[in-house]
Amino acid sequence: MFGRRRREQARSTSESVGAAGPDNPDVVLAQTIARHFEGAEVSGSAAAIGLGGVIIDCRVDQLVPTNGQVAASLFFNISGGALGTAPIFASSSGYGTSDLEAIVEGGCAWSCSFGPVLRSALADEPEPDVDTFDVALDGRPFRAHVAALNRLMGTPGIGEPGDVIRRTREALVGDDRWLTRKVLDSGTLPLVSTATATVLSAFVMELSDHRTVEVKVNGREWVASNLDAFAGPHVGAEGTATLMRELAVLVPQGGRVARSVPFRRDSLQRTLDGFEPATAEPWRADGWQGWSAHRGALGRPLDVAEVRALEAAAGQLPPDYRAFLVDVAGSGAGPGYGLIRPAVVGDGVIPLAHAGCGVTWILRLDPDHRGEVWVDAAGADETFTQVAPTFSEWYDDWLESALRGGVWSQWDNSACATTGVLNQLITSLDERGELGPRPINLQGRIGPGGIALSLGAGYLPEGSAGDPCHPCVALASRFGLGPAIFSPGVLLQR
Ligand SMILES: [Zn+2]
Repeated sequence: MFGRRRREQARSTSESVGAAGPDNPDVVLAQTIARHFEGAEVSGSAAAIGLGGVIIDCRVDQLVPTNGQVAASLFFNISGGALGTAPIFASSSGYGTSDLEAIVEGGCAWSCSFGPVLRSALADEPEPDVDTFDVALDGRPFRAHVAALNRLMGTPGIGEPGDVIRRTREALVGDDRWLTRKVLDSGTLPLVSTATATVLSAFVMELSDHRTVEVKVNGREWVASNLDAFAGPHVGAEGTATLMRELAVLVPQGGRVARSVPFRRDSLQRTLDGFEPATAEPWRADGWQGWSAHRGALGRPLDVAEVRALEAAAGQLPPDYRAFLVDVAGSGAGPGYGLIRPAVVGDGVIPLAHAGCGVTWILRLDPDHRGEVWVDAAGADETFTQVAPTFSEWYDDWLESALRGGVWSQWDNSACATTGVLNQLITSLDERGELGPRPINLQGRIGPGGIALSLGAGYLPEGSAGDPCHPCVALASRFGLGPAIFSPGVLLQR
């Protein structure tokens, strides 16, 4: 009952204030963040904080009044510069006697603890409270920049808080000093990108008889590390709760060549196993139907005879792709509906994966572009574009995007057939005055299998029943339409 009342009292910020005015909570939060970074600029809800082009998009998710206080729930999406283009989600909270005070307090606390780590990692500025050390993960070199934020809650008279926290930390992590170090050494993290910097957070709340652990990689909770990295007896002082939070940024070292360590099947499968399809959502890489086509499983590697047969048709394969096929997998988990068993087709290319909507990633074999990955978006916006210089970088980029949770696409899906169907439906409902209030909800307007895609041409037999691409599935879901509206095509039936 209490929870319910809280929710009713909570105000959605979009209804309580104007869209872009100076009183907009999102803008206030962005301005608060910007004050912590020299030369930062605010545009709407986005704070451009410098550091090579890092943008923090700010949202006040909820303002909940409780006992004369206001609790602000704050959302951040961080992207740009060395952090890469796919947004990293972070959240925090703030408290005060008014909406404004809660937002400013929360924004300030978050930037005061995280800002120095970002500056140390992305601008290479030494910061007094940030520690740096080198670490190798799956054979790839990184420099970790880490800072801690500790709090002690408990009965008075338990001693100097700093001493209690220090004793608890020492009992938990020993001489390492850092929870982060323990997480890094545990071998439970997913493969960490060598193309972009990675944000790693570790949180432990230690009681005398209970421990809560939360490890997040680029904003995504990584349950495998929660369970494994902090086993052992409870070390919290009686009657206290020690809250230990660490924020780290892992910066890849050694340049592109030094970083290009080949994939290993065990570390890749460990990463894929860390996804949680059960809790997934259609706009996440592991929550849409392309993932359910391969379920995060790697197919068996090719044997010597199969590689020889392939190279008889393709010529010598690019070394990284050949190594992947032989040592990691010949098919299975990957972009779109998963990696296809390799074969040379058409005018001498190897299709790598179908995206749906008649879009295919291919490996080029012609002399000028050999080894490059291109996307052939014949069924969507009809573009043909290079998306990665090598197979490994293409696969790495997909994996990183999957971890961050966004839709990975390199074509304009507004030209896909699905978008056209939805557009027609919305237009005709609007003309008949049946569209209803915004946001537009089309639930029940298209029955199961109501959209059947037929492939014109490309890398599947002409006239095949097609499946939708991820951007189209995500688009439909924004209008309340689940994946069942699509008639299953050849990719799901494989
Ligand atoms: Zn599409």
